Amino acid sequence: MDLGLTGKVAIVVAASKGLGKGCALALAREGARVTICARTEADLAAAEADIRGATGADVLAIPADLTSPTDIHAVVEATAERFGGIDILVNNSGGPRIGQFASLTDEDWRHAFEVVTLNFVRFVRDVVPYMRAKHWGRIVGIQSSSVKQPVANIDLSNGTRPGIAGLMKALMPDLAADGITINLVLPGSFRTARISPGIEEDAPASPELQERLRSLGARIPVGRLGEPIELGDLVAFLASERAAYITGAAYQIDGGVIVSNL
Ligand code: NAP
Repeated sequence: MDLGLTGKVAIVVAASKGLGKGCALALAREGARVTICARTEADLAAAEADIRGATGADVLAIPADLTSPTDIHAVVEATAERFGGIDILVNNSGGPRIGQFASLTDEDWRHAFEVVTLNFVRFVRDVVPYMRAKHWGRIVGIQSSSVKQPVANIDLSNGTRPGIAGLMKALMPDLAADGITINLVLPGSFRTARISPGIEEDAPASPELQERLRSLGARIPVGRLGEPIELGDLVAFLASERAAYITGAAYQIDGGVIVSNL
């Protein structure tokens, strides 16, 4: 299937590793020009080289901290300047701190609001004028299965991410009138450093790490963790020309973990 992504301009937030990198790789494979951002410059440079090497795509890497509105604005403006516009936003983050309610401070909640909510708000606000100008745009938010079902030991996610679903729905009709779709992707458990610290994507896992990954996978109906590129492929489809009639939707990608009917 031709996704119609050749030459499209995408920003993938928090994309030097993990799910963000998987999304950037999937979009680049389909011919998109891609901006990636994250804080650690060495990781960002390595991801840029990996994605360019694997796909030949035009990749722009911009160091940025997504808790800074100035950095977010700079990522958007640099992308528009380099590529002449913005077609696709994949809004990802490093995620809020892991922990149960009793262990969380007001500062943890403020930080979670910054990385989950304000990150989404600021990027959407900054990219939408570029999309409206072309009467075409795709916004995909990477959230969590916690939008549909609470996840143990991560109450900052349980308490903040469902609100993004409400905001996505509220924004959707006005964006749709301008040819812009907005959707969420809800990951379950993927093989990234967030789920299992110590994972080096290109290095063989130690026996201890293999055992940990096996036991995490055993709790999932399909019997394994997801691979970031599997989520990237879903995101590339939602960002594509083919997905023009899909908007205001939240897609779980969880190997069967969510138990509710919908
Ligand atoms: P990851 O492998 O740890 O990668 C996180 C990425 O975000 C890195 O590129 C990191 O680079 C960047 N980042 C972190 N904080 C940042 C900041 N303040 N500013 C800019 N970039 C930042 O994480 P992941 O597993 O891919 O998770 C991505 C998102 O999906 C998170 O929100 C996570 O909660 C959510 N999620 C993940 C899973 C899963 O199974 N992996 C499941 C549900 C939800 P720097 O640290 O260098 O900035």
